[in-house]
Amino acid sequence: MSEVGERRSEVGQTSDLRPPTSYPTLHRAVVEHMVRQAVYQRLGKPLPKPAVAPNPLVVNVSARHCHLTSEAVETLFGRGHQLTAHKWLYQDGQFAAKETLTLIGPRSRVISNLRILGPCRSLNQVELAYTDGIALGFDLPLRLSGNIKGTLGCMLMGPAGFFEMNEGVIRALRHVHMSPDDAVFYGVEGGEKMRLKIGGPCGLTLDKLLVRVDKNFKLEVHIDTDEGNACNLQPDTACELIK
Ligand SMILES: [Zn+2]
Repeated sequence: MSEVGERRSEVGQTSDLRPPTSYPTLHRAVVEHMVRQAVYQRLGKPLPKPAVAPNPLVVNVSARHCHLTSEAVETLFGRGHQLTAHKWLYQDGQFAAKETLTLIGPRSRVISNLRILGPCRSLNQVELAYTDGIALGFDLPLRLSGNIKGTLGCMLMGPAGFFEMNEGVIRALRHVHMSPDDAVFYGVEGGEKMRLKIGGPCGLTLDKLLVRVDKNFKLEVHIDTDEGNACNLQPDTACELIK
């Protein structure tokens, strides 16, 4: 999820990943996109906007997670330890690791089984939902991923030791990853804000969705568990990006 997962441009790539325990399959939205285009072409009808889009819109919920430096991974899991891919995320090269941690907040309240997303990065960052912040007694700052200056830290506990983060616990800004082609199609540039309209019986529209453009990005919205649960987002829920 989300988070999961994230952003090649700001990620320190490692080339020596262990073999994954699962491999990516075609995302449901990708298959639907292909079918929709084929059906309209066969019918000889003009393509509606979602079918004209260069890429299918994928909306994923990022559960609470952290990004770590390789130094932090070694401190927490032992010298020379490398993250193991548990599940590949939609963005190429990004994965949810098999390894999890225990987070200890400033008031000694704990979150266990905090998922680590790989590969390792150049900074340590924990991304929580506001509900987690309330449970921890933590006033979470709303930040763009990577912008952690002046934020509170926490203690992380792994099987081989503790790692103290002096800063880096945030509630990440909701955002959409897209390629330059997608940006042209939607008429937006990196740094702009869009809206995400989520359908279904409990549908809602989320404002202030930050646009992040990179040639390596696949079109994907990342929202958190509070947002996903508020509208009961399901794999087949219709979603629309609005400028
Ligand atoms: Zn993201």
